[in-house]
Amino acid sequence: AVSLAGVSKTFGDFTAVEALDLDVKPGEFLSMLGPSGSGKTTVLRMIAGFENVTSGSIHLSGVDVTQVPPHARQVNTVFQDYALFPHFTIAENVGYGLRVAGVSRAERATQVGVALEQVRLSAVADRLPHQLSGGQRQRIALARALILRPQVLLLDEPLGALDKQLREEMQIELKQIQREVGITFIFVTHDQEEALTLSDRVAVFNNGRVEQVGTAREVYEFPATEFVAKFLGLSN
Ligand code: ATP
Repeated sequence: AVSLAGVSKTFGDFTAVEALDLDVKPGEFLSMLGPSGSGKTTVLRMIAGFENVTSGSIHLSGVDVTQVPPHARQVNTVFQDYALFPHFTIAENVGYGLRVAGVSRAERATQVGVALEQVRLSAVADRLPHQLSGGQRQRIALARALILRPQVLLLDEPLGALDKQLREEMQIELKQIQREVGITFIFVTHDQEEALTLSDRVAVFNNGRVEQVGTAREVYEFPATEFVAKFLGLSN
């Protein structure tokens, strides 16, 4: 679904991402895992189109989108601070993107219903955001992104603001929702347990480069580099 070829990003003379090749399959759940500053968010922002590549190319479903603006890419992003409009009901929040796109009221109501069902929150459609828990708000942010039917959903530490127990519950939810909707998820985290639990494959980042891409089992059993072994706590 997503293919990065030789993608680099420099800020002034600092190289944030260097010659990155990465292929994410349709329907795959791929996590980008690595220490702070290793380039994960920059990669996500380049896939979304918020940041231009310095060199290299990005393809979505075989189409070169390297020069395509964010709104014209079939990609949507869920951030950690999933700001919902406080004075809009949950249903209005979820349907907002469709309203902007000029979708009729009746059609919006139908699609909002489906999206709320996907995140199992049909019961709260008429509430305001402050009447929901943190985990519920996170699921609403997900519904708001899913309703636009992106080919790819980018998630930047979406569970980072939640406490440990809620975070673990949401990990399970997120995985189930991803399986049901069948959309490609690219997930950024610095939490290795989270990455390894959720993902079909993990890309381990270090200093703007991917050290290894593989299933949880592969990276644990056969860490490709000393860094991967250390980062996963497999050696000292
Ligand atoms: P974190 O887990 O802390 O979010 P990350 O792996 O997502 O880290 P990035 O946010 O991609 O890392 O940043 C990679 C490097 O690029 C960092 O050293 C950061 O300071 C630098 N960087 C990111 N954006 C810019 C920018 N707009 N201008 C200059 N440097 C930047």
